[in-house]
Amino acid sequence: MLLDLSIAQIAAKYRSHEISPVDVVKECLENIEKYNSTLNAFITIRDKQELLKEAQNIKFETPLSGIPYVLKDVYVTKGLRTTAASKVLENYIPDYNATVVDKLKNAGAILIGKTNMDAWGHGASSENTDFGPVKNPWDQSRVAGGSSGGAAAAISSRMAMFAIGEDTGGSIRNPAGWCGISGLKVTYGRVSRYGAIAYASSLDTVGPMAKSSQDLAIILEQIAGIDPYDATSSPVEIPKYSKNLDIDFNKIKVGIPFELNLQINDVIAKFKELGARIVDVSLPMLKQAVSVYYLLAPSETSSNLGRYDGIRYGHGRQNFTQETMRRIMIGTYALSAGYYDAYYKKAQQARTKIIEDYNKAFEKCDVIIIPISPYIAPKFGELISDPVKNMLADLYTCTTNIAGIPSLALPCGFEEGMPVGFQIQGPMFSEEMLLQAGYAYQQATTWHHEKPTL
Ligand code: GLN
Repeated sequence: MLLDLSIAQIAAKYRSHEISPVDVVKECLENIEKYNSTLNAFITIRDKQELLKEAQNIKFETPLSGIPYVLKDVYVTKGLRTTAASKVLENYIPDYNATVVDKLKNAGAILIGKTNMDAWGHGASSENTDFGPVKNPWDQSRVAGGSSGGAAAAISSRMAMFAIGEDTGGSIRNPAGWCGISGLKVTYGRVSRYGAIAYASSLDTVGPMAKSSQDLAIILEQIAGIDPYDATSSPVEIPKYSKNLDIDFNKIKVGIPFELNLQINDVIAKFKELGARIVDVSLPMLKQAVSVYYLLAPSETSSNLGRYDGIRYGHGRQNFTQETMRRIMIGTYALSAGYYDAYYKKAQQARTKIIEDYNKAFEKCDVIIIPISPYIAPKFGELISDPVKNMLADLYTCTTNIAGIPSLALPCGFEEGMPVGFQIQGPMFSEEMLLQAGYAYQQATTWHHEKPTL
């Protein structure tokens, strides 16, 4: 199957004229036809004829030319419905493109469709959606993760070569982990957020999901960089991520936080084998991180969602789901005059402490390895019926959004037949090193080649 290949392998086959983008797009459409009615990964699929025509007319100018991808339905697309998986935006057709969409269009990537998710990014299971839950390709009685669940399910089941997800507290890494693919949460500012429907503006990040570190490096190179439309995008130079993947692992010091109560011994052993030095580090605030996140994110979302007042965009707030209402209420409470100091301000102070924890840890090590999630993909209903368990899904992921640092999520094995992943976290703008470490790990392991039988 062509969709099993890497982006670089497909591009090489294009260059040698062995295959054309039409072949790859056809395979995506066949897989969508076969699996999407079960998995429910998509909210909108582009017209087949239009896609084939686009595939026929690709100019080969970048490593992504003619490579089909999907977009989490949180990015605005000109002339193409954008819902954030909420009824509120059911009929919203934007008249402009998100920067990431324009960049990929200019790079020649082919947008197949818009993927299902937890509405507004609120969730870790892609059950909080007005378009029906997403099923996990590895076991359809289990969730795909969230909030970028449709994107992860689509890549894992070979409906596209890569996806653009969005990560506010774990939404790229959690579904990547539970669906057995790779995903990158970038440094805040590395990729423009212009045209991403805001969840929590100081935490939201735009990033790639694909089968491997190498694919992620190729994608990041095309989407990173400063954007005049996003004042928080950074002018930091963009490394040649995909050209610099080889490193001398002996130079890398890997920190393991001793607050961890989950074991990732096989990963640690593999890193040692590759030559890395392992050191203990401490992230004492890990215990408070979920509480801090669930004050900051709801506060910001309660303000961001204020614009859906029923006047500017189709339906109004009566269409928010229970999960979204819960967040708006918590956020409004935390920001209210009487409780601001006790909650929002405290959470901001704790945010500084979490940043300090990481700064201290990175004095002792180059990268930190840590699990993605405390459990494997839950069965349907387990998370949505238990708000606390739902929040704990973000235990190991939300700290990086709070600190603004990058984190690479990679598959590292199976438990009860379900994929398990881990993260490699690093200081601000260390994506190059994370992708190098991830590449070395994936050269030495085969987990990222595994795929579900559907
Ligand atoms: N599960 C987290 C939340 O619901 C993360 C969501 C995200 O990263 N968009 O807030």
